[in-house]
Amino acid sequence: AAKAEGGRRVRVFEPDMEERQHQRRWLERELKLAIESGQIALHYQPLFDLTTNAVTGLEALARWHHPERGWISPGEFIPVAEATGLIDALGAYVLRTACTDAMDWPGHPRVAVNISPMQFRSGDLDQLVEQVLRATRLPSRRLELEITESVILSQDRATYDMLTRLRRLGVRFSMDDFGTGYSSLSSLNGFRFDKIKLDQSFVRNLLEKDEAAAIVHVVAELGRTLRITTTAEGVETPEQLARLRASGFSEVQGYLLSRPLPAAAVPRFLLARNDLIAAA
Ligand code: C2E
Ligand code: MG
Ligand code: MG
Ligand code: MG
Repeated sequence: AAKAEGGRRVRVFEPDMEERQHQRRWLERELKLAIESGQIALHYQPLFDLTTNAVTGLEALARWHHPERGWISPGEFIPVAEATGLIDALGAYVLRTACTDAMDWPGHPRVAVNISPMQFRSGDLDQLVEQVLRATRLPSRRLELEITESVILSQDRATYDMLTRLRRLGVRFSMDDFGTGYSSLSSLNGFRFDKIKLDQSFVRNLLEKDEAAAIVHVVAELGRTLRITTTAEGVETPEQLARLRASGFSEVQGYLLSRPLPAAAVPRFLLARNDLIAAA
């Protein structure tokens, strides 16, 4: 009986594993093609200054529309890209495209680009950034690199040297998804960031949970003390916005103010906002 049960388990388990393996290999193959053929598009989500309401920058977010499978979210394809090494090609494509697009933006807001921890491994990220800035002629202070604290927590010499070389180029650093890692505070201790982006999970719980509200206050205070910008992501309601403003956050980003916009819509969006500011 035990043998039969074992046999049955194996039969149930294996096809599932195989199916997942198969799915993953399919995704890897398709992603490679998508990167090479320009099937990955960038959408841009604005960041708003909480005191002036001005758009200070826009974050590039990768979008993949597969001809047969439809939309595939970055939550699905970024991990595959990271696991297969495709992230270097994808990251280079995103950086080049974002900096090129930003050159056409009225009012010259910043462009924020997400950089995967894996891109630090290759050792030539600084050369890529330098080359893209030179080719596109984007001023380096308009480029903001969003990195997660896992980059900092690796704490090896090579990572630290890379961050220092990137800093020398004049780009800005934003710590993404702050508060979700194991040691958020210590990651601020070794390297100077220009901005903290508090993870959207805290914003989501802001009105329901005292803990989240307390953390929001503390992070706002931390930003004031360190004199760095604090940004809250995932702002969806006017109540959340009011609380963040009262706490003294510097910036907000979220569906309430704007969803990520297709690249082609950004110049018009910015022009309309400039009009609003000029008229006010
Ligand atoms: P992230 O960098 O933290 O980006 C914020 C995510 O929150 C985006 O999801 C954005 O569309 C979503 N979001 C913005 N406002 C709201 C809101 O009000 N409510 C809710 N519920 N969500 C909101 P998205 O575009 O699916 O990206 C997910 C993650 O994938 C990003 O998280 C980032 O870590 C990664 N990613 C996206 N594009 C790239 C890329 O080009 N390179 C790398 N390395 N990672 C990327
Ligand atoms: Mg980000
Ligand atoms: Mg984020
Ligand atoms: Mg996030």
